[in-house]
Amino acid sequence: MDLFGSRLKEGVQENRKQISLNNKDIEGRVKFSDILIKKNIDMEKKKSTRLSYNSGCTCCPRHCANKSFCGKSSNVVRVAKVMRHMYEEPILCPAGMGSGAIFFSFCSLKCVYCQNYEISSLGQGKDIKIYDLCEIFKKLEKMGVANINLVTPTHYTFEIIEALNSYRPKIPVVWNSSGYEDSSNINKLKGLVDIFLFDAKYFSPELSAKYSGARDYFDNFIKSLVVAREIVGEDIVQNGVMKKGIIVRLLVLPNAWRDSIEIFRHIKEKVGTNIYVSLMSQYVPMHKAKFYPEINRKITPLEYKKVLREMIGLGFNKGFTQDKTSANICFTPNFSRPTLELK
Ligand code: SF4
Repeated sequence: MDLFGSRLKEGVQENRKQISLNNKDIEGRVKFSDILIKKNIDMEKKKSTRLSYNSGCTCCPRHCANKSFCGKSSNVVRVAKVMRHMYEEPILCPAGMGSGAIFFSFCSLKCVYCQNYEISSLGQGKDIKIYDLCEIFKKLEKMGVANINLVTPTHYTFEIIEALNSYRPKIPVVWNSSGYEDSSNINKLKGLVDIFLFDAKYFSPELSAKYSGARDYFDNFIKSLVVAREIVGEDIVQNGVMKKGIIVRLLVLPNAWRDSIEIFRHIKEKVGTNIYVSLMSQYVPMHKAKFYPEINRKITPLEYKKVLREMIGLGFNKGFTQDKTSANICFTPNFSRPTLELK
């Protein structure tokens, strides 16, 4: 029997204000109780539906064959943390339920300012099998969370598809992604994923190349957003809880407010303004940001206001904002201590 056990003391304490809905933030430390991982022999025997890693990975737009820019290995999924997450957008975290977050280790983007670099770059976590992932889904469901929240799942797209084909949770599944996606893979998530929570990081290829080594970021982001809208249809929010739909998160970077505005203009052009947006002010320079003087500071209130004003002026009127107290290193998840034990 494998066991996850941890006492979690941190969360992303993002002090979000809702523009059109009225949920309150939730305080809290959460004790994540045991997750039993039962080996499912049948699943092991079942022929893998994954694309062969040996023939080259196509999980993200890098299509980097066997070089594994992201750091993942074949045939395993590495997970850094499983928790009841109380600090996602309020429509994902109803009071008393929270969101069932599974933080995957490694990342296909590796931003120089990453706040989770212990897991995204250093790969902290534990290797698990597909059947373990299914058991985690089941355990989170039993805990009564509002959704299964797959955090940074892109580089494990095919493994997750296999898991969801083996066990389909009865609660919504959230694809919580950097937005650097191959749109053809997003299409494969039809019927498996209910909510897309996409970051919108950059419009400019120069910025995305400089900070994330991905000159093609925005092209892939916007194509994937269009596909995501096609496959989930209209947003469905019942009693303040999202059941289906899309949320676009935008973290305003220092000296990049014009870029943020361009992102909103192009989202409006491609999918319209009837979409949830989450405008974040919580940027804190971390990881390698000290080597980039222009982003080695928090954003100013004026930078945030410029983006917010333009966003509302363009017609985006449902979503979430943050106040300036959210830009605090204390509000960043701590992945440096092991909080997931696999025995
Ligand atoms: S997910 Fe990782 S291994 Fe796959 S193409 Fe992207 S960077 Fe390469």
